Amino acid sequence: MNATAETRPFEAEVAQVLHLVTHSLYSHKEIFLRELISNASDACDKLRFEALGKPELLAGDTDLHIDVSVDKDARTITIRDNGIGMTRDEVIANIGTIASSGTRKFLEALSADKKADANLIGQFGVGFYSAFVVADKVTLVTRKADMAAGEGVRWESSGTGEYTLESVNATERGTSVTLHLKADEDEFLQPWQLRSLIARYSDHIGFPIRMPKDKDGKPSEEWDVVNQASALWTRPKAEIKDEEYHAFYKHISHDFNDPLAWTHNRVEGNQNFTSLLYVPAQAPFDLLMGGRDERKGLKLYVKRVFIMDAAEQLLPAYLRFVRGVVDSDDLPLNVSREILQQNRNLEKLKSACTRRVLDLLDKLAKDEPEKFTTFWKTFGNVLKEGLSEDFANKERIAKLLRFASTKSEGAAQTVSFDDYIGRMKAGQESIYFITADGYAAAKGSPQLEALKANDVEVMLMVDRIDDWMMGYLNEYAGKKLRNVAKGDLELDKLGGASAEARKETEKAAEGVVKKLKELLGERVREVRVSTRLTDSPACIVLDEHDMGLVMQRLLKQAGQDVPTSKPALEINPAHALVKRIETDSAHAADLALLLLEQAQLLEGVALEDPAAYVRRLNALIC
Ligand code: ADP
Repeated sequence: MNATAETRPFEAEVAQVLHLVTHSLYSHKEIFLRELISNASDACDKLRFEALGKPELLAGDTDLHIDVSVDKDARTITIRDNGIGMTRDEVIANIGTIASSGTRKFLEALSADKKADANLIGQFGVGFYSAFVVADKVTLVTRKADMAAGEGVRWESSGTGEYTLESVNATERGTSVTLHLKADEDEFLQPWQLRSLIARYSDHIGFPIRMPKDKDGKPSEEWDVVNQASALWTRPKAEIKDEEYHAFYKHISHDFNDPLAWTHNRVEGNQNFTSLLYVPAQAPFDLLMGGRDERKGLKLYVKRVFIMDAAEQLLPAYLRFVRGVVDSDDLPLNVSREILQQNRNLEKLKSACTRRVLDLLDKLAKDEPEKFTTFWKTFGNVLKEGLSEDFANKERIAKLLRFASTKSEGAAQTVSFDDYIGRMKAGQESIYFITADGYAAAKGSPQLEALKANDVEVMLMVDRIDDWMMGYLNEYAGKKLRNVAKGDLELDKLGGASAEARKETEKAAEGVVKKLKELLGERVREVRVSTRLTDSPACIVLDEHDMGLVMQRLLKQAGQDVPTSKPALEINPAHALVKRIETDSAHAADLALLLLEQAQLLEGVALEDPAAYVRRLNALIC
């Protein structure tokens, strides 16, 4: 080794990933080729972009391409690109350590099912290491585009804990990765095998992928282009097969699964652009955690030149699961992120892309309900964020929401507001819903009793985000949305007791209401006769403008100051427990407290003094 050679250990986490890759991942070994070609293609993209402002980077070598070759005697495969290349420091940063938090997250996400884990490898930005699935030694030689020939770098590792770095002379810019195949991986030494893998996984790569022409069974000096080498989205829709759309999706998303759906459009007019947007079938690992900050997988091209990952600029956060490309003819080629943010065309592009995705989801809901169900299960809660984020499309987003309801089967979230409206009772003016912590809590909630008894459907909103979300949605299609745990339900028009009958009941219950007020004192804001209850003795009701209890609880858990409003207790005077409060004066005080505490428990409220509650309950039982 020369004076600039050194041996360095991998970061501990990288070493762990490598160990896993070399020892556990046996399925779909061939993905290494896709991952390495994908890196080579990114390197060509980067160079083309940087050369826009600095044409001298190309140094006369303007035909960007990727070469794949095999040396049967040496038992190696080499993937070479004439893209941007790397400096020594970049090699250390990109290959020896992982700058992004990808590796750690990859390790955290690992499960016992190592087969499934193979699928994760690209997603976590550790694709390069897939080389070690088939190779027991990998040699990378690279030279950055603007560096002198003497500043090449040779990196080599057998994937076990350390790597060596050495300065080398590299006359050509770019990167070559040579895999020294493991003993039993001879199948990858067959050029036809590599060609068919490239056709399957990398056909859509926009740069030519070349392999040496076979002459008399031997590789020659001439090259064949083995892929289509035209950016997929620029081709006419009718000519693109589903498999090609799938392969392209996998390339940009690093997802191993097929996408759920996509929309591919060319728009001409005021703005000229092409978009190819995909909805994945599975959630990317970072969808919920951190996914809002650092979004990837939506690429901006200008006139076929890759500019940058621009998910934040092209779609709102609530559509952050979308992957794809947008290729604009109108943006300036030399856009930086800052310039991009101020560009008026961009705002238009963003709303156009948003519309495309919502159109796609609409279509899915209408024409492919099963796929829509998959979508909803995976991304429904993310889409809900749109109600607060995207005022202009609120109604369209609300149309896509699905919930369980008192008239649907089980906990499956299948009922839309339109379904609900379609079967509303004559005279019904509002859409009723309840929010709770989970399906059982919602379905068993006492607040629903009278509505159920009168055959009025109630939407059961059971996800944590729902309470918050409904704060942004007051009506849908002209119908008011009413939380059944809040305010007056106005049930008289829907078969509930008439105003006179209510007055009478209230009058008859004046005594017990007064007594409860005395007994509960400061604990409650009000005690009143309920119109909601048929079977249960009592429930808690919020004011129209109170924050929902689920939301209050979440904020408290998050350490926030929440103004605690005192609960209003509604009672069912016909219930035996309520009657007993009037007659059993020895236990009235305990019974009154129990009534309140039970109602609080049903709302998922943590009791202030659970021990006292248990004592009271036991005293009454024994
Ligand atoms: P990812 O590509 O998802 O970032 P990889 O492990 O495949 O993860 O690659 C790590 C990094 O190494 C890349 O982001 C890139 O910066 C660099 N790299 C890999 N291959 C090449 C290449 N052929 N040319 C230039 N840089 C490369």
